[in-house]
Amino acid sequence: MCGIVGYIGDKKAYPILIKGLSRLEYRGYDSAGIALLENVDKINLYKRKGKVQDLVDFIGDESTVGNVGIGHTRWATHGPPNDTNAHPHYSGNSRIALVHNGIIENYDTIKEALIKKGHTFTSDTDTEVLVHLIEDIQENGGVSLEEAIRIALNEVHGAYAIVVISKDEPDKIIGAKKSSPLVVGLGEDEYYFASDATPIVEYTKNVVYLEDQQIAIVDRKNGLRIISTSNKEVSPYVQELEMELEVLEKGGYDHFMLKEIYEQPRAIKDSLRGRLNAKEGWVSLGGIKDYEDQIAKANRIIIIACGTSWHAGLVGEYYIEDLARIPVEVEYASEFRYRNPIIRKDDVVIAISQSGETADTIAALNMAKEQGATILGIVNVVGSTISRITDAGTYTHAGPEIGVASTKAFTTQVSLLAMMALMIGKKRGTIEDERFQRLIEEMEMLPTKLEGLIEKSNEFCITIAEKYKDASNALFLGRGNNFPIALEGALKLKEISYIHAEGYPAAEMKHGPIALIDEEMPIFVIATQGANYEKVVSNIQEVKARKGKVIAIITKGDTTVKELADDYIKIPDADDFVVPILATIPFQLMSYHIAVMRNCNVDQPRNLAKSVTVE
Ligand code: GLU
Repeated sequence: MCGIVGYIGDKKAYPILIKGLSRLEYRGYDSAGIALLENVDKINLYKRKGKVQDLVDFIGDESTVGNVGIGHTRWATHGPPNDTNAHPHYSGNSRIALVHNGIIENYDTIKEALIKKGHTFTSDTDTEVLVHLIEDIQENGGVSLEEAIRIALNEVHGAYAIVVISKDEPDKIIGAKKSSPLVVGLGEDEYYFASDATPIVEYTKNVVYLEDQQIAIVDRKNGLRIISTSNKEVSPYVQELEMELEVLEKGGYDHFMLKEIYEQPRAIKDSLRGRLNAKEGWVSLGGIKDYEDQIAKANRIIIIACGTSWHAGLVGEYYIEDLARIPVEVEYASEFRYRNPIIRKDDVVIAISQSGETADTIAALNMAKEQGATILGIVNVVGSTISRITDAGTYTHAGPEIGVASTKAFTTQVSLLAMMALMIGKKRGTIEDERFQRLIEEMEMLPTKLEGLIEKSNEFCITIAEKYKDASNALFLGRGNNFPIALEGALKLKEISYIHAEGYPAAEMKHGPIALIDEEMPIFVIATQGANYEKVVSNIQEVKARKGKVIAIITKGDTTVKELADDYIKIPDADDFVVPILATIPFQLMSYHIAVMRNCNVDQPRNLAKSVTVE
C-alpha cells in the first residue's frame, strides 16, 4: 500500500519521480505528490488529491528543476484523501520533506508533546508527526539529519518506509524501513529509492532490499551507506534484478487486469517449469526441497494468508488433505495473529502472499517462527520480505501483477499448492502411483487448456456480462475444491464492479442465502462433471424452482446443466483436481467485462490498493 520513490543524481528528478509513481500507482491512488530540491534554499512541494495524472495536470507546464526529489502515491490511513493530507509532508520550518508508507501508531502522544513545544500541524496524518519529530530532534540536539532520523525512528511504534530530503543537506537522500518495503537502486553516480523495483528497473538492475530497522544514507560524494537504527554499520547486499521492462507495460491490452488474465497460460507454464515432469513422472519444488522431510512429517499444516491468497489456501487445504493426508488449517493472517493460536514445533506454517509484503501475514509468520514452527512462503515478488524471513519458500513466477484485482497470482498460487500436495503425497506414500501420474499429466496440460479456454470463453463472457451487468447482487456457488473458487469469483466481481456478491458452498445455500433468490438474482454455479456433479445439479434445480437466473460453468459435452441453466460457459474436460484453476477463468473474464461495462476503474478499484502493507 502506498508507493514511494526517491531520486538523487545528475538527471532531472521530476520525470523520473512521475514515471515511478505511475508504476507504483497500483499500491495506492487517492492522492499523489512530489517534493523537489529546486534550488539551494527551497524544497518545493506539489501535491494533489486523485491520481498521478491529476498531479501531472496540476503541475501543468510549470517547468520543474532539481536533481533531487521524492514522491508518493497514497492509500490513506489517517485523514481523508485530500490535497493537504497528500504526501510529501514538510517539517514545521519547511526545511525537511518526507514521504511515508505505513502507520505511526503512537503518533498521537508524540503530536501532543510536539504541540506543547510549539509545533503546529497542517494535516491529519500520522506522517506529519514524524517529520516534525525529526526536525525537533535536529534543532534541539544539534545533530545531523541522519542522526535525527535514527533517533526519531527509535521513538516511533508501527510500520514505516520513509524517504527524506533536507534543504540543509542537499546532496543527501535518506530512506529507512520497518515492516513496509523499500528498495535502493544503484545507478552510475545516481541512486533511486522505491517501494518495489518497478520504478527502478529501467535505469539499473543493481538493487539493495533494505531490511527492517535499516537506514540507507545516500550522499552524492560518498555513495550508499547503511546503518541500523541501533547505529551499527551494515554492508549493503547488492542484488541483480531479473525483471524485464516490458512486463510493466499494458502491451496493447486496455487494462492490466485483462493482460494478466491472458498471461495465465504463460504464468502457469513458468510456475511448472523445472518442477514437474509427466514423462519422467516427478514433481519437485526446489525452494522447499530441503524441508520435504519436515513437511512430510508435519503434525499439521497451517496456511496463513489474506484476501485472494486466502482463497488459494483453501484450495490448498483440499489438495493437501486429499493427497498427503496431513490436517490443514487455513487462517486469515489478521485473525490468526491476534487470537493466541496454538502453534507447535512440528507444525509447518505456509504463508501465501502475492507481494510478499502483506503486513498481517508477515506478523503472523513472525509469531509462528517465535513459537518454533517451520515457516515457508509462497510469494510472487522475488526478494520480498516474506521470501527473506521464511525458512524456505517457493516463488509463483507469475511475473509482476499490476492490476489490483489478483488473477494470475491466484492461479499460480493454486498450481503451486497442487504441486506441493503431490510432492508431499508422493513422499508420504498416500497417493497411488497411477493417480499421481494422471494428476501430473493433468497439470502439464493446464497451460494449453487455459489458452484455448481464455480464447473461446471471452466472447461468451462478454455476452453474459451484458445481460447481468445491472444486477445489484450475485451469488457464487461451488462444492468441494470449487467452493473456494466461488468465494474468489464473488470477491472478483465485488471488488471491481461494486456489485454485492457472496460465495457459498452450493449446499449451504438453503441455510440462508436462498432467501435472497428472485428473478433478478444471477447465480453463478460451478457445475462441472466430477465427484459432486449430481449434487450441484440438485442445487441448480433448487435455484430454478425459485426463478433465480443460473449461469453455469459446465464441462464441454455436458447437456443436463446446459439445458437447465439460463447461460453457460464450457470449460475443457479435466480431472476434478485442476478444475479450480480452469473454472476461475470465466469468473475473472465475466467480472472484468461487467466492470468495464459499468465504467468502473478496473485496474484501480475504489478504496483498494495492492500489496497491503498496513494492518
Ligand atoms: N499513514 C499515512 C497516511 O495516512 C501513510 C499511508 C500510506 O501508506 O499511504 O497518510
